[in-house]
Amino acid sequence: MNIVILGSPGVGKGTYAKILSEKFNIPRISVGDLFRKAMKNETELGRKIEDYVSRGDLVPDETTIELVKKRLQEDDCKNGFFLDGFPRTIAQAEAMERFKKISKVLNFVASEWIIMSRLGGRRTCRECGATYHVKEVPPKLEGICDRCGGKLYLRSDEAPQAIKNRLRVYLEKTKPVIGYFRKRKLLAIIDANYKFEEVDKVISQCEKHLQNLGEDSRRRRI
Ligand code: ADP
Ligand code: ZN
Repeated sequence: MNIVILGSPGVGKGTYAKILSEKFNIPRISVGDLFRKAMKNETELGRKIEDYVSRGDLVPDETTIELVKKRLQEDDCKNGFFLDGFPRTIAQAEAMERFKKISKVLNFVASEWIIMSRLGGRRTCRECGATYHVKEVPPKLEGICDRCGGKLYLRSDEAPQAIKNRLRVYLEKTKPVIGYFRKRKLLAIIDANYKFEEVDKVISQCEKHLQNLGEDSRRRRI
């Protein structure tokens, strides 16, 4: 079950991918998290990508493709994965076709109003990467992670100027990827216009699309 998660920044795809990952017992691979980890550990990769990420620009395709390809070859991905944040360009989609067979693409959509309000309020734990929202999902203690006690911060790519840039980059580079998968009949549209308390309504739409996957492949084998 190799699942690609698509959607505009702020649509909440990271949250949905985490829930799906637990339900289906298949790892969530977040490209943004892999990049942030590299920056936190100040690895060579981390230094190379820092400027792109903090501006809200895409990291060059070559670097991103190599990282994702390697990560998906690891043992924990052998039964599948929820891939969050890749592919974000047509070139990445074409590359992925060469190294992994995709079972389904879940494209999360929400109104612009919902997306803007989600983006500005997000806070991230510096230690464990857990995310909160100042209004929708506040931590019990302001500025402190419920899970590990780490300090919460506003990611540099979540400052207003960088948010604007990420949305512009999304429209220009990533939106065409939706059409690419639609043509290949892999696309499922998921309505994400729900409050966080109603997350089940979003997840149940995903489950409907994912349940049939096993059946499809069984039918094909007969
Ligand atoms: P969001 O989905 O909210 O924009 P992510 O955590 O997925 O945030 O990504 C954070 C940043 O990491 C992006 O703004 C970009 O700089 C970089 N990044 C993530 N995925 C990719 C990708 N597939 N290609 C290039 N850069 C990426
Ligand atoms: Zn934490």
